[in-house]
Formats: sequence, structure tokens, C-alpha cells
Amino acid sequence: MRIDNNKARFLKKYEERLKKVLIVGFISGIIICFLLGSLINRIRIGGLEKKYKEQITTLEDKNEQLSGELKSGSTQKGENQNSEILSSKEEGWALVLINESSPLDTEYRPELAEAVEGKFVDARIMPELSEMLEDAVGDGMQMYICSAYRDYESQWEVFNTTMVDWINQGKSPLEAYEETKKSVAVPGTSEHASGLALDIVSTKYGELDDKQAETEEARWLAENCWKYGFILRYPPEKSAITGIVFEPWHYRYVGKEAAKEIKEKDLTLEEYLSRQ
Ligand SMILES: [Zn+2]
Repeated sequence: MRIDNNKARFLKKYEERLKKVLIVGFISGIIICFLLGSLINRIRIGGLEKKYKEQITTLEDKNEQLSGELKSGSTQKGENQNSEILSSKEEGWALVLINESSPLDTEYRPELAEAVEGKFVDARIMPELSEMLEDAVGDGMQMYICSAYRDYESQWEVFNTTMVDWINQGKSPLEAYEETKKSVAVPGTSEHASGLALDIVSTKYGELDDKQAETEEARWLAENCWKYGFILRYPPEKSAITGIVFEPWHYRYVGKEAAKEIKEKDLTLEEYLSRQ
């Protein structure tokens, strides 16, 4: 009986000790797991942060290089030749070339006229633009000018918004920058800053994609715009020359004479100017 009691006491003690060991073990397990988890997470985040910082640095370097190029580009060409030609009263202002290798002075501001509510263009193109829009309406076209003059700052806004969209879709900042560049002109290289370019779409189809070209309105414009001094600036199969993908909505004023030759000979503005 006494032996049994001792045995029972011993077993109880043993059981309690075992319980303690198990509880302590369990708690330390949780703590160790937690510490280990946060350590792994910290290493992972550290890695991601490093990668992100590297990409941002590359991006900043690229931007700096780009703005350097823009600055030196504009001074090398004789103190912003583009804006000088554009502001000149003489002939030739409508033929100014604005692209990545021929950027426009960021300070340039044309004399504006309101084409439609809230959309402005260089006042000098208003007579032909109004005529074109009126004739289009006369032929039953339903068009909408979705963009016209955009200053340097607005171009940055468009560029940044598009870039953020790409980042939200999972692209890295650097990839987003490259993707954006394909469809949005890098600020300083957009024709919209000259006031000579317009984005015109069909009111029945507002998307800025290749299907826009199939609308009645885009067809009408492609066929008739030259009569009013406009050209389809970024035609299909000419991206290698213009540096911009096919944009069936982007029209640029170049004057009637040039527009006629460009249309007849199926040229881009780059090709036309290199022939002069
Ligand atoms: Zn455009």
C-alpha cells in the first residue's frame, strides 16, 4: 500500500514535470519559429529592397542621362533650333521635326487657340483644322478630339500615369519605363507640346488601339487629312523610322504642300525632311 502510494506520487510528479517540459518546449518552439520566420522575411525583404533600390538607381541614372541628352541636344543644335523655327513667322514652322533625337525646347509655348472646348492648338492651324472638322461632320463623321496641345508638365503626368499602370501590372520600375516609352513620348519629345498635333478618335470607339483604324472616322481622316495640311504621323510599318508604334489617331499639321507629297509618296515626316 505504501509502495503503491510512493509509486503514485512519483508518477504524478513525473507527469507534472513532463507537462512542464512539453509546455516550455511548445512555447519555445513557437518563439523559435517566429524568430526564424521574421529573420527569413527580413532577409527576403532586404533582398527585394536591394533589388528595388538598384532598379530605381538605374532608372534615375537613365532619366538623368536622358535630360542631359535633351539639354545637350537642344544646345548643340544651335540654341533650341526647334522652338526658333516654330516661333518664326517665316515659312517652314509647320515642318519642324520633333522626335526622340530632335526634342523640343521644354520652355516652348505656342500661341494657342481653342479648337474645341478645353482643347487647344497652335492658333496658326485653326483655319485648316476647323475646315477639316466641318467637312468631316458634313460627311456624317462623328469625331472627338481627345488630346491636343499638352505642355511639358502635362506630358510628364501622362508618362508617369502610364508608368504607374505598368508597375501595378507587376512590372519593375525599369520595365515599366521601357514599356511606357513605346506608347507615350518621353517628355520633351512629344509633338503635342508644339500645338501642331491632335489625337482624334471616333465617338463610337474611344479606345486608343489598332482597332481605331477600322472606324469610319479614322478611315475618313487617313483619306482626306492631307487636303487640309495634316498627316497621319505614325503609320503602320513605319515604327522603325518614327520610333513610335502605329497610332491611327495621331494627326500632325505640316502644311498643305508637304502633306500632299507625304500622302502621295507614302512617306513619314522624317523621310520627307531627309529628302529636302
Ligand atoms: Zn498623339
